[in-house]
Amino acid sequence: MEGASTPSAHETLHVGLGYDVHALVRDRPLIIGGVHVPCELGLLGHSDADVLAHALTDAILGAMRAGDIGQLFPDTDPAYENADSIVLLSQVAQLMRTQGYRLVDADCVIAAQEPRLSPYRDAMRERLAGALGVDVQSVGVKATTTEHLGFEGRGEGISAQAVVILAVGAARCTCSNSSVQAPGTGTDATIHGIL
Ligand SMILES: [Zn+2]
Repeated sequence: MEGASTPSAHETLHVGLGYDVHALVRDRPLIIGGVHVPCELGLLGHSDADVLAHALTDAILGAMRAGDIGQLFPDTDPAYENADSIVLLSQVAQLMRTQGYRLVDADCVIAAQEPRLSPYRDAMRERLAGALGVDVQSVGVKATTTEHLGFEGRGEGISAQAVVILAVGAARCTCSNSSVQAPGTGTDATIHGIL
């Protein structure tokens, strides 16, 4: 797979950032990155409340300038009650591909005081990469505590952030913002939103 995700001179790169938070409550399963984590508390939400899958989904939609997860999958729609967020992520990945975008790379961080999530990191990467249809090497997952600070530190909730880089054929790029020549590339590659 080496080099498979390297953008070509005829592609434009878009960056996307996603952030999500859910409250920790009793009597809910704890599902993060498509992995069921044994815990007496779980995340509260209309869907399965997979905070990591939601942040990653939003990052992709952000890079596509295609709105956000709440617009695409409204929490007022009974169809998404207890929905498997990995399925929703795979639907957005499908949308991404049909619009000519390709995921180059993704990285994520989960902020949770408890439970300890690092033993589940690789399983989460496998699940997310599978939903995205990319190699597991293209998806990073890290977990951190917040040293008992903030709502995560008090165990009231869990947050996740994700950043993605998508490549799109320059001819298909509909971004209306002025673009910046990527420095030192000597190519027509442009980068939106990073510089
Ligand atoms: Zn969410």
